[in-house]
Amino acid sequence: MTRTYFLSTPIYYVNDVPHVGHAYTTIAADTLTRSRRLRGYDAFLLTGTDEHGQNIERVARERGIPEQQHCDEISARFRELWDRLDVRYDRFIRTTDKVHKDGVLKLWARLVKAKCPDGRDAIYPGTYAGWYCPRCEAFKDEDELKQPGNICPDHERPCEWTEEENFFFRLSAYSEWLRERIEAPVDDPSRIRIDPEGRRNEVLAVIRQGLQDFSVSRARVKWGIPVPEQPDHVLYVWVDALSNYVTALGFANDGPDYRKFWGDEGPPTGEAAERSPIHSGEAKRGGPGGVRRSTPPTKNAAERGPIHSGERFHLIGKDIIRFHCLYWPALLHAAGVKPPNRFFAQGWITKDGKKLSKTTGNVIVPEELVARLGADAVRYFVLREAPYGQDWDFTDAAFVGRYNSDLANDLGNLVSRALTMVLKYCDGKVPPTTEPRGGTPEGDAVLTKYEALDFAGALAEVWRTISIANQEIVGFAPWVVAIDPERRTELNDFLYRQLDRIRLIAALVSPVVPRAAGRIFRMLGLRDPEPGPQDLVFGRLEPGQPLGTIEPLFPRVERDDPDSRNDRARKSDSPRASTKETTVSDTTPPAPTTATPAVQAPALENAVDKAADQIDIAEFAKVELRVALVTAAEKIQGSKKLLKLQVDLGGEQRQIVSGIAEAYPPDALVGKKVALVSNLKPAKLMGVESNGMVLAASIDGKPVLCTFDVDVPPGTKIR
Ligand SMILES: [Zn+2]
Repeated sequence: MTRTYFLSTPIYYVNDVPHVGHAYTTIAADTLTRSRRLRGYDAFLLTGTDEHGQNIERVARERGIPEQQHCDEISARFRELWDRLDVRYDRFIRTTDKVHKDGVLKLWARLVKAKCPDGRDAIYPGTYAGWYCPRCEAFKDEDELKQPGNICPDHERPCEWTEEENFFFRLSAYSEWLRERIEAPVDDPSRIRIDPEGRRNEVLAVIRQGLQDFSVSRARVKWGIPVPEQPDHVLYVWVDALSNYVTALGFANDGPDYRKFWGDEGPPTGEAAERSPIHSGEAKRGGPGGVRRSTPPTKNAAERGPIHSGERFHLIGKDIIRFHCLYWPALLHAAGVKPPNRFFAQGWITKDGKKLSKTTGNVIVPEELVARLGADAVRYFVLREAPYGQDWDFTDAAFVGRYNSDLANDLGNLVSRALTMVLKYCDGKVPPTTEPRGGTPEGDAVLTKYEALDFAGALAEVWRTISIANQEIVGFAPWVVAIDPERRTELNDFLYRQLDRIRLIAALVSPVVPRAAGRIFRMLGLRDPEPGPQDLVFGRLEPGQPLGTIEPLFPRVERDDPDSRNDRARKSDSPRASTKETTVSDTTPPAPTTATPAVQAPALENAVDKAADQIDIAEFAKVELRVALVTAAEKIQGSKKLLKLQVDLGGEQRQIVSGIAEAYPPDALVGKKVALVSNLKPAKLMGVESNGMVLAASIDGKPVLCTFDVDVPPGTKIR
């Protein structure tokens, strides 16, 4: 049984920089691919950029640069974002790549010769007339348009009545073929599976209404792949862009990845020997190839049925279902290429209950999220917060809340508690165990949920284990057991089990938070930070192996508003750890028109600085900290938490607003010496000016002031 698995994201249109919808799909795709590799599958993740069409011509013209330069710049932005989000794709295809153009022309050459099921030519010349939206690059059905003015509902702009000679694909002749495959029973190998169920019904409804032939070339576009039969036309997006899924694999020259992960349909046409699936392809791609290829299938996975093997799976947005689930399989079938056999359409993200829109400034900038809490936090949040496939609402409060409660508290604390105990009671080395190591792989329920794209469910499953582990530590009370030398074996067994379970947890969360998983592996003293199928078995830790350096996994962050800490329902808080706001400009390229959820990202020039996890001493030196003596304090009217303080900095008087009212009555503060950030830009809180910030620890949302253990004069610098 070939254990191959091909997964793609849509290729993203380079009319604008990446936005959070792109990130959402790509994170999901990367997670899915990684989870398959944990099962030992030979998985291939494809992503890339769609770079042709009228919109790109226009955007490049507006920017005053050649099309190719524009494409190069934006395409690079996507690759940068995937790097920052730890997305590990196997290939990044660009529709301006030669390998793509060659592949498209090969597909086209087959289509031109192809016959439909009814014997007619699949491609025919015709005249197309209709309402055309240049932004959609699509003719619109009359009943889709808003009246008066024949307005495109997606772009709020008038469509143009257009007639042109071009080539058509006879989709109508493939209705029955498509319906049979989409309705085929679960165990039918020819089945095209579409999830969620509602989307599948949508596609079947389109077939019932009657499929119309669609135009596959354009006379009015220059930036594209010329049609060989008519070089003043270019191939239209449905032939050009959709083909990326096979051209990237080397369709043009029938390359080994194409034959392994995709392949031609039906009886071979003279090269049968080469067409058999390849098991042991050279590890020419990056990633954990060696590990996953050398691992034999587990019994469990083999019993799970044929569906995962040889999967040709497209993750898509719900706006591009028709083209992917109908046009694309029919085109491939006509060209004698296997159709894809699985689709999943994801939902859209809103923010604070409103549609994302650059015009209204309601945007989520993925780079900013990464800069704030790191790639793992972003990946975890988008997959944990809502069921994949549904629309959901992003709030800052939920983002920070989940980070603190799930990652910092639950996972982070478990790891640091267990490792610290081993440091304390076992000299920092993996303790011996009397329990048998090895056995059947664990984590089946979690991996099965990943594979069903139930990411939230998979994570909830792992978090149950985390919670059990945290409870067990409290219940067992190793600090008590450690006192009794007679119970040494019991203690060792317990700590070994905890450590090894943390290793298993790290392996099971690694598809979502790969960086944290790698760090946990290193803290456990494992040399290879890359979890693989072999890591799902109990007892992989070697007794006597020294642990690595223990470091905090997810340091807690605070939000500005103490009222709302730990309150996920609040909608409007912004975390204190936030980087500076990125201004959103309207002078940038227009909204995306295809293949992506309707959200936009900020201007090109507003690149956000790379996330910096650490600062150097020079950066720290920019912060001026001084001892301040509180000389007066009063409540600010209308606020439960804010106090207005007058402080003395050794001669200089300052007014400070501080959110500590709930923990400190004003009178208790007068005469106290506190630590003050003294070079903070002035800010107004509730209309009261504040010239600095008082430092405080936060215990479950309750502030505790930093003070000094001997008396220090006001104004003294703190270093
Ligand atoms: Zn439009």
